[in-house]
Parts: sequence; C-alpha cells; structure tokens
Amino acid sequence: MKNEKAIVVFSGGQDSTTCLFWAKKQFSEVEAVTFDYGQRHNEEIECAKKIAKELEVPHHILDMELLNQLAPNALTRKEEAITHEEGELPSTFVPGRNLLFLSFAGILARQVGAKHIVTGVCETDFSGYPDCRDIFIKSLNVTLNLSMDDTFVIHTPLMWIDKAETWKLADELGALDYIREKTLTCYNGIIGDGCGECPACLLRKRGLNEYLKEKGDIE
Ligand SMILES: [Zn+2]
Repeated sequence: MKNEKAIVVFSGGQDSTTCLFWAKKQFSEVEAVTFDYGQRHNEEIECAKKIAKELEVPHHILDMELLNQLAPNALTRKEEAITHEEGELPSTFVPGRNLLFLSFAGILARQVGAKHIVTGVCETDFSGYPDCRDIFIKSLNVTLNLSMDDTFVIHTPLMWIDKAETWKLADELGALDYIREKTLTCYNGIIGDGCGECPACLLRKRGLNEYLKEKGDIE
C-alpha cells in the first residue's frame, strides 16, 4: 500500500463504491467527494453519505447546482425521460460533467494534500459519453498538473473492464455483498438490486448474472 493520500470521486453507485474499496487497499489515506447537482433522487446523496460513514472515509459534499442550471437533463429533471436513440448520446448525458467534477476533485486534492484522484469512469460499457474516455482523462490529468503546477495522478481502475469484471473486482476486494446491497445505481432511486427495469439496473443485473454464472454461484 502506498503511503499516500487519494480522493475518490464518489456517487454511492456500484462503480464508485468499488473504486472506494479499491482505493482503501491502495492508499494509506482515502477521502471521498460527492457532487450534489440536484440529482433525480436525493437518495443518491444520502446513500453516498451512509456508505462513506460506514467505511470510515472522510466525505466532502460539494454543491454543483450550477450544473443543473446550465445543462438540465434526464439525470437532474424528473420530467425528462431516459432515452437512448441509436447513434445519439443518451438523455442522461450531462455535458461537461466529468470535466467539472474532476477539476473540482483536483482542487480539493490540492487542499487536502492528496496526490491521487480515483474515478470510476469506464470506456467498456461505453454509452457514448465523451468524458468517460481514457484519452479525455489523460488529457485532463496533464491540464490539472499544468494548471496547479502539481503532480496529480488520476486513476481509473474500471476503464477497461466490463460490468461483470467490475463485480469480480468487488468480490476480490471482499466487497461483493456490500456493494450489491448498499449501493444505488437505479435511475428510479431504489438501493441494491433496484427496480430491475431501468437501463442502469439492466446493465448492473446483466453484469452480476454473468459474473455469478462464471463463478458457478448460479446456473
Ligand atoms: Zn432501476
């Protein structure tokens, strides 16, 4: 374990909670940051708070209401339906979200003396979000370092793995049951296995079933 400090960008969902467990294994000190941008469900913030407390991780919640003001979309407005047309970005896309979140995470990292920033972005289950791409993260890493004359390292442990492999990683970290029961991925705001029907639940469930099958836990 590196005797260094990391900030984890943390939403209380499956991916970022897996990253939080991963970071706790990698670094001697870990803090989490959650962005409050008027998510569809306030449960998301409450869920993140609860997990950070249970894992004894100092937790920063930053107000990003501004993002909702600039770019209303299906993740922030209940009246906007979640849709994904062929060849288009899904309606859940929030333009500039990771650019802003990771920049603020960098400023926070600087304040708390952390060199490492961990984010659960991933190119594999790619919904077409341009700011989840590896090249964007690498580019932003350079920009952050130049902007603050610093040497941050952005870590993306999930970048090249799919949902089944993310469950496998959770299992290897001894956190599969915890993540399955306590995290919130569902667009309808239901913790754990969720509503089972929204796109986020379907992706999560498909990955979990694939992993459990591979492991031999289910037929
Ligand atoms: Zn759901």
